[in-house]
Amino acid sequence: MMVINTINELKEKIRFWKDQSKQIGFVATMGYLHEGHLSLVRESKRSSEITVVSIFVNPKQFGPQEDYNFYPRDLNRDRNLLEKEGVDLVFHPSVEEMYPDHYRTYVEVEELQDKLCGKSRPGHFRGVCTVVLKLLNLVQPDEAYFGWKDAQQVVILQKMVKDLNIPTKVVPLPIVRDNDGLALSSRNTYLKPQERQAALVLNKSLDLAARLFSQGVKDASLIKQKMVELISTEPLVRIDYVEIIDLQNLNNIDKLEGDALITLAAYVGRTRLIDNIRFISGGIEK
Ligand code: AMP
Repeated sequence: MMVINTINELKEKIRFWKDQSKQIGFVATMGYLHEGHLSLVRESKRSSEITVVSIFVNPKQFGPQEDYNFYPRDLNRDRNLLEKEGVDLVFHPSVEEMYPDHYRTYVEVEELQDKLCGKSRPGHFRGVCTVVLKLLNLVQPDEAYFGWKDAQQVVILQKMVKDLNIPTKVVPLPIVRDNDGLALSSRNTYLKPQERQAALVLNKSLDLAARLFSQGVKDASLIKQKMVELISTEPLVRIDYVEIIDLQNLNNIDKLEGDALITLAAYVGRTRLIDNIRFISGGIEK
């Protein structure tokens, strides 16, 4: 497995594979890998000939008050995990390599970027889209794998790829959870034991929504109300949002039907967590 830090070396390697008409799969990460990331890597290994993984904590997607400086990093650990999965190339650039002095170009997906997480994290999706577009341009993957964990990100990137005619297929994959149901996240390492316990209420509120849906409840405001009531029983958890939305345009919906998403963000102590459940073609995907 090669670990490459520079754009020039990466381009050279990609050109070599493209000359051999290899199918390239790509997984973009910020490192501190867990089974969620590895599920994307395994899908790439399964369906592409070459697997490229990037590890880059992208400063442009963090707000000034956010955790960029504290975000967990452990390249050696990540490298070992990826080596075991049979990854071909890890791209691990410096910030200066990605954003040299006088960097000036950004990508915005209007409207979609301002909803949900975009409200409490202004500029976040501008940073995400900018780095992902740069990475897609460099790696030129046939397929890029992203987790439904970040559902708004999936919807926005699908739109970016379509609008900008990028020849990569965005492949979304299911959320990987811990045994107790908590969605895996690199940020879970911030949680104190008591907070981790409290965080389970988020997953439970999604289970409650699924149960209500299975019992025939379609009224979005009722489902939302029941979820908020349940989450509010946990004093360590503060809701940022709980929304029931159309998966195409991220607009709120009144009735849970069509392709829909129940999505939430909440602070557990100082840690901001997100989770969701998808309702696609009448089936529940969690
Ligand atoms: P990150 O390192 O947080 O930027 O995540 C890199 C990729 O892994 C993104 O596409 C995430 O959606 C995905 N991912 C993160 N956590 C999970 C999870 N628990 N299950 C599935 N995918 C995940």
